[in-house]
Amino acid sequence: LNYRNTHFITSAPDIRHLPDDTGIEIAFAGRSNAGKSSSLNRLCDQKSLAKTSKTPGRTQLINLFQVDEGCHIVDLPGYGFAQVPLELKQKWQKSLGEYLQKREQLKGLVVLMDIRHPMKDLDQQLIYWAVESQLPVMVLLTKADKLKSGARKAQLLKIQEASLAFCGDVQVELFSSLKGFGVDKLRRKLDDWFLS
Ligand code: GDP
Repeated sequence: LNYRNTHFITSAPDIRHLPDDTGIEIAFAGRSNAGKSSSLNRLCDQKSLAKTSKTPGRTQLINLFQVDEGCHIVDLPGYGFAQVPLELKQKWQKSLGEYLQKREQLKGLVVLMDIRHPMKDLDQQLIYWAVESQLPVMVLLTKADKLKSGARKAQLLKIQEASLAFCGDVQVELFSSLKGFGVDKLRRKLDDWFLS
């Protein structure tokens, strides 16, 4: 698929406000500030497809993008940020949980985590849940350019081993929106999911 053709369709506070006729959806999830917007922009080779923000927890809507007929990418609200009132947090987490559990179009999940702060509780819960639900998962260790080559490889190995131990065979890859690491592997995985 040509990810450069990706365009924004709509934003919705919950799944009731999403269109039904989207075909396949692949969702991107991660803690707030994990680098999700930057990764989507890099994947699609566009500067501001998904708004990147330095303020954690700003984008709290479900954002729907179309790559091609019947092939959609969903940018889910970031989770795990600290500076918002509990009530709002609960509301957001509810729409995230609901999307993941009820959206029938969902066929694959990309979980992004900062390579320097990987596998926090919520990341683990999400991956564990996806594996249990037989939803295919790919894990991206983002901002991989922040570590030197040796440390980067060691961290990748560590996370791969940890994932294998607690949730089975999940593909874990290095990613950098800045340097382009992992972009081809991500595109290949999405092609697999969209076209199978
Ligand atoms: P989001 O909240 O998950 O959407 O995260 P953003 O994409 O807005 O990124 C959060 C911060 O991390 C921003 O300051 C980005 O510039 C920075 N960032 C994102 N990706 C990379 C990367 O690959 N390398 C580096 N060095 N910084 C990154």
